[in-house]
Amino acid sequence: MDGYTRPALLVQSEIESVRCLACAHRCLIKPGKRGLCKVRFNRDGILMVPHGYIAGAQIDPIEKKPFFHLLPGSNALTFGMLGCDFHCDFCQNWISSQVLRDDRATSAIGSIQRVEPEQLVQMALQSGAQVIASSYNEPLITTEWAIEIFKLAVQAGIKCVFVSNGNATVEALHVLQPFLSGYKIDLKSMQQKNYRDLGGKLQNVLDTIKLAHELGFWVEIVTLVIPDYNDSNEELWDAARFISSISNDIPWHVTAFHPDYHMLDRPPTSIESLTRAAEIGQEAGLHFVYAGNLPGQVRSFEDTYCPGCNTRLIKRKGYTIREYKITSQGTCPQCGIKQAGIWIADPTQINLDGSGYPRRILT
Ligand code: SF4
Repeated sequence: MDGYTRPALLVQSEIESVRCLACAHRCLIKPGKRGLCKVRFNRDGILMVPHGYIAGAQIDPIEKKPFFHLLPGSNALTFGMLGCDFHCDFCQNWISSQVLRDDRATSAIGSIQRVEPEQLVQMALQSGAQVIASSYNEPLITTEWAIEIFKLAVQAGIKCVFVSNGNATVEALHVLQPFLSGYKIDLKSMQQKNYRDLGGKLQNVLDTIKLAHELGFWVEIVTLVIPDYNDSNEELWDAARFISSISNDIPWHVTAFHPDYHMLDRPPTSIESLTRAAEIGQEAGLHFVYAGNLPGQVRSFEDTYCPGCNTRLIKRKGYTIREYKITSQGTCPQCGIKQAGIWIADPTQINLDGSGYPRRILT
């Protein structure tokens, strides 16, 4: 993997070492050493960072990221690399994210494929994708590579998004600002103790959510609701109140957990627990609360309603749109209120049965 690297942009020189500015760990890295993510390393005083490869790419519905208010119904060319700055016991992409920490994931290295930014943008254009997403592993640790792709994508009229743990720095968000339209952030818990266990700090994630919103990214938040981990009413209220304190228009996705990786000691999230979490979000004042991973089982919590007149604007089942009423101006057809989000210019093009998603594996 070290052959697929370039000198970093997000770096600061220190005495006999370099400080990485890509994520909130801000690792101080001496020559010959690596940062906590293990993919960024100091070679003879130069911080080298991932470049020029993907470990997988696929066309997905944008709803799968999930973004529900960013070009709904569009295809997103989604690419991933390897490594992460966290080590979550419940990671659902652990083979990609933990490849450099867990011997059971080393097979992921074999999936690396050399690629140029132009090729990825061409793939997106040829497949009709309106969005390119950096996902599957933590995109912040490969921000420089994403920017190379995103620069070309934006010129080609494609929107770019991050699917991230939110452990960002001010510097990373600022260099992304000209190119990034959407930022999905996981809010995994409201307890610092839980964040410490997975290798982070709660405050850094809260700060990222706030700054990403202030910088004008379209932000959607996801909380994987895990039994006996983050599913108490108190903690869910804390999360909902925090999001509401920034903006009631930020969508909050509460999604169902299934046992995975190191967290096999508890049951999947029940329908009752997931809908309780969604109700808390609504009671806290959030306009858009969605319950995910249990399609067709969560009452109206897959649908979008107008905050002004309660007209159902988008009906969904899972990642598929069944009904779409938002106008080409992004307004409610009933009361005319502008809806928060980035909307499709021609609603007649929206695919209402999901058949437009090729889900084609590119690597
Ligand atoms: S991306 Fe984060 S974890 Fe990796 S080297 Fe930089 S500061 Fe450290």
